Amino acid sequence: MKIVLASRNQKKIEELRTLLSEEFSDMEILSLDDVGILEDIEENGTTFEENALIKARVAAKSGYVGVADDSGLSVDALAGEPGVYSARYAARCDFAGDHDDEGNNQCLLYNLRDVADEDRTGAYVCAVACVLPDGREFTVRGESRGRILREYRGTGGFGYDPLFYFDAFGKTFAEVSAAEKHSVSHRGAAIRNFAKKLKELI
Ligand code: IMP
Repeated sequence: MKIVLASRNQKKIEELRTLLSEEFSDMEILSLDDVGILEDIEENGTTFEENALIKARVAAKSGYVGVADDSGLSVDALAGEPGVYSARYAARCDFAGDHDDEGNNQCLLYNLRDVADEDRTGAYVCAVACVLPDGREFTVRGESRGRILREYRGTGGFGYDPLFYFDAFGKTFAEVSAAEKHSVSHRGAAIRNFAKKLKELI
């Protein structure tokens, strides 16, 4: 079976390739570039599921199984923000400087400045969407709950990981190995749910 992942982010493609190869031994994982789909995809959905479906539908134009994920951090005290704006959260804080991981983290710390430790809870969320060649579609979701620290801890991972404290590890996601993170992460859980569902349908 061939799966086309709707991403141009090489890091993400490699991560999803690793996770999917644990679930399917006979699967070829291709990128949009591999199948010659060059269009820019506008992620204008209001939920992770909508955005993942928008991308998976484009990948399915290849004629193969189209798969996409969309993820972010949803903080309880911020009514779910950064949410679908996770990658561009800095743009919502005038002071935050560059619109990169550092800017996003600074914006998050600023917006949580008056929130007490016990209320700094939230979840990483990952939605995976799948569009089959016969037109059937489904989405699944994985979540990983944690707490948002006031200072960075660790240098691994990416994005909000230095601020995302996972109680069961007693560490942030930036302080653990990639394998440890995948074993409990939103993306790991979503991919396992996706694999289960796809195996039922094919
Ligand atoms: P996307 O799924 O590529 O759209 O990623 C959305 C954004 O959510 C990323 O740019 C990060 O800011 C954040 N994010 C999603 N997953 C993670 C994670 O595992 N660690 C840290 N940040 C994440």
